Amino acid sequence: MPISPQLLYIQDPFMLEFEASVVEKVPLPGGHLGVILDRTYFYPTGGGQEYDTGHIGDAAVLDVQKSKDNSTIIHVLDRDISVGRITAHIDSDRRIRHMQHHTAQHLLSQCFLRQLDAPTVSANINGYSPSTLDLDSPPISKTDLQSVEILANDVIFQNLQVKSYFVSKSESTGLPIRKADAIHEDIRIVEIDSFDYSACAGTHCTQTGSIGILKIARTERQNDKLRVHFIAGKQALEAFRETFDTLNRLSAAFSVHPRDLETAVLQQSLVLDSVQKQLASARHEMLKLEAHQLYRDGETIRQRLCVLGAYENRPVEELRFLALECCRHPCTLALFSSLSGSKISLVVGCSPGGGVKAGQLLQELLQPFGGRGGGDDSFGQGGGSGNSVQQAALMQNAYQLLKTLPPPENAAG
Ligand SMILES: [Zn+2]
Repeated sequence: MPISPQLLYIQDPFMLEFEASVVEKVPLPGGHLGVILDRTYFYPTGGGQEYDTGHIGDAAVLDVQKSKDNSTIIHVLDRDISVGRITAHIDSDRRIRHMQHHTAQHLLSQCFLRQLDAPTVSANINGYSPSTLDLDSPPISKTDLQSVEILANDVIFQNLQVKSYFVSKSESTGLPIRKADAIHEDIRIVEIDSFDYSACAGTHCTQTGSIGILKIARTERQNDKLRVHFIAGKQALEAFRETFDTLNRLSAAFSVHPRDLETAVLQQSLVLDSVQKQLASARHEMLKLEAHQLYRDGETIRQRLCVLGAYENRPVEELRFLALECCRHPCTLALFSSLSGSKISLVVGCSPGGGVKAGQLLQELLQPFGGRGGGDDSFGQGGGSGNSVQQAALMQNAYQLLKTLPPPENAAG
């Protein structure tokens, strides 16, 4: 069957620079310009594989599409070009990545079929992120995935020829084609030398060795299908390089060989857990001591012991702990604030016999700053935005207010 001058990539997937003539310009939605060439090696989006990019003359090719009747290829350009003879360049990196992943997909699909009787129902080819294929299969064990991966790489290392040719529908019946239901008249077969026969119009390597290597990255459930993510060729090299570099950096940081890294990390994690527990315990003891000291230094105002403190960058949990610890003593009022950035936190605690409603006092103090908070008679917590001047004013207000409060009802004298 003669190859259409609109689909010359089928004839030679390595032809990445060619001469052609612009035969038609097509205005496209979004203000872009489409051009039709008399002959083209650009691949249009289809069959789970994205379009080629590159240049036609000075214009960058942003997209390549088939016309609605599939008869012509429309190259979407970023700018206008003159009509006549032009030189076109296809982006080789993108093309080669697609070829590697597309050939890897045929190979992997055949390996899943042979090893696990798992047919591929759809595939998505990506050059720069893992490609995927969806299997009609229950979950697959790690061991079975590995056996498929080993077979696929064995076929890569055998460097089998990848052929493509057209057959008629009657000729196709004699071939063990993976997806036989897709066969129409004069279909293009991509054959990995007697190993796999697939009906496909994509771009592929001409030898399996060009795939380089194939790695299954992971699997995931997609409704009733199993999605397999895999990488090959240049993308696999990049992933290997990144992983290897990361391992080397971590090995140097831990001063161990990469093979001992997992043990070293687990040991470090155990040590960290233990140290964090010790630290939490020590911090708890320190806060108790601090609370004790604060209580001892407190000032008796209107016959109740008042403990006030203003801090910077203290977690509100610490303020709360200090207040509750001070309020273990009867007839005590504790009031602590902390400024973090532009936020003032405030806690107020009042122990039995203190005669102050802590939540109410807190709201009264926050009101001038537009702050918010709440609580009950024994404890209140809240905050608002402010700066160090406003924090000092708040503490001064609190001090003055405490001087005006009536003494506790049961206070002596
Ligand atoms: Zn293909």
